Amino acid sequence: MLLPKGLLYAARSYPDKIAVVGGNHRYSYQQLEIRTAKVKASLSKLGAKKGDRIGLLLLNDFRYLELMYGATALGAIIVPMNTRFSVEEHIYVLEDAGVEILYVNKEFLTLIPEIQKRVPTIRHIILAEDENDQALLENKQVESYEKLLVSEPIEILTYDDIHEEDIAGLFYTGGTTGRSKGVMLSHKSLVANAMHVVINFKNKKEDIYLHAAPMFHLADQASTFAVTLTGGTHVTLRQFTPKGFLEIVEQERVSMTMLVPTMINMILHSADFEKYDTSSLQFILYGASPMATELLKKTMNLLPRISLIQAYGMTEAAPILTLLLPEDHNVSNEQNEKRLTSCGKPVQLVDMKVVGPDGNELPTNEIGEFVARGPNIMNGYWRLEDETSKVLQDGWYSTGDMGYMDEDGYFYVVDRAKDMIISGGENVYSVEVEQALYMHPAVLECAVFGAPDKEWGEVVRAAVVLKPGVTSSEEEILTFLRTKVANYKVPKSIEFLLELPKSGAGKILKRVIRDQFIKQPVNE
Ligand code: ATP
Ligand code: MG
Repeated sequence: MLLPKGLLYAARSYPDKIAVVGGNHRYSYQQLEIRTAKVKASLSKLGAKKGDRIGLLLLNDFRYLELMYGATALGAIIVPMNTRFSVEEHIYVLEDAGVEILYVNKEFLTLIPEIQKRVPTIRHIILAEDENDQALLENKQVESYEKLLVSEPIEILTYDDIHEEDIAGLFYTGGTTGRSKGVMLSHKSLVANAMHVVINFKNKKEDIYLHAAPMFHLADQASTFAVTLTGGTHVTLRQFTPKGFLEIVEQERVSMTMLVPTMINMILHSADFEKYDTSSLQFILYGASPMATELLKKTMNLLPRISLIQAYGMTEAAPILTLLLPEDHNVSNEQNEKRLTSCGKPVQLVDMKVVGPDGNELPTNEIGEFVARGPNIMNGYWRLEDETSKVLQDGWYSTGDMGYMDEDGYFYVVDRAKDMIISGGENVYSVEVEQALYMHPAVLECAVFGAPDKEWGEVVRAAVVLKPGVTSSEEEILTFLRTKVANYKVPKSIEFLLELPKSGAGKILKRVIRDQFIKQPVNE
């Protein structure tokens, strides 16, 4: 159960198959193995050894693959960094992880002086660009990635001194509900997840997988190791835009990809959607945050031939816990219509149950917290022992997500415990109100959150972005909502915004919206 083994297997089984495509670069599996062996050797030469942390501040660069396999073959720990973070957040992660060698794309060069000044552990900064790149010639503080590789002799990839329980990566959580935490994932956890993907997606060497969601995030990583070990092709889209996505799908005949709901929303509402040929797409994996049923139905209507798979999970689970498979999306009867609101069933080696506040398992259809165990669960949070012991007990991980299981074993996420609103003693699940808001034809995006209130404890409030060129009013939307959800769930007010703040992984940051509006409570 070692990560580099997957690459070695592909290089032996499919040496001439194209492994990775990025910009003008195209490498076969044999070439990728050689480049990876050189990355490993160059890291050794820079003094990196087992257990050292290697920062990756990269957009969706094809070099992500050789860096992940090369560093972990050495026993080093990769630290994929959230490219949307501010400089302060980058410095926090670099210091917290104790990064010694940092790889950056040229887009991040302006941050280097500040990083060098403030993070003393960093010994080398390497610019992951072509050797003749102008940025490299002009910047004397960074070393050349390609030059380091060229100077290494060609050799095969080896990985002797590593164990499956060793940490392969420190993956920082999305930072959706607070400061992000470093999640220690072992080789075993990541390989276990890859095997779950292979079993359920039936990956094959003909697959052409597009890395459209950020590669630093585990939602995209979920497929990375699976695509490699089955000999599929990785296509990298440096930065996501709906047009860029459609262009590359057409050009590379992409067959599978992973998208978060906000990306699907952007693609389907893009003026370019009809202009490109998307007929090569066979599979879309979606998840990482709740998908509005309206958006899911729209996706199924506009892309009827595509098999959709929903994944539910989190960084702490490397990341997949449950999957809603293509056959579950077949809405031929009422039962299946409800299935569209489910996140599916646990994958093969995962046990998941719903527990009450005392930790006892709850009967079907009762709402409690999801807890899960399996070989994919993290070793713990990096340097946060108290936080770790709060969520990991006897091998069970407490997800912080609320939901229930139906009599057929399907799970339903109702909300994050932290986003649940308690108004006048009644529980309001923000996601349920959002689902109702998305049914309104004028609503493009929304977030429902609780604001403190003297009388009710908390009141429900909403922020809404309208579709371009569409008008509506607060009263009209509230009247619509009253026909969809109970009165106490209807927001007390709606704020109309031009856009909603999002995390690096494209998730709507309710805590930011909440903080913004808490300053103006309704009853004051
Ligand atoms: P942080 O832990 O720092 O607040 P985060 O929880 O957003 O950030 P991730 O690990 O990226 O960080 O996200 C996992 C969370 O995303 C889950 O706990 C869950 O709340 C949500 N999520 C993931 N998949 C789904 C899904 N299919 N449906 C609903 N929610 C989902
Ligand atoms: Mg989380």
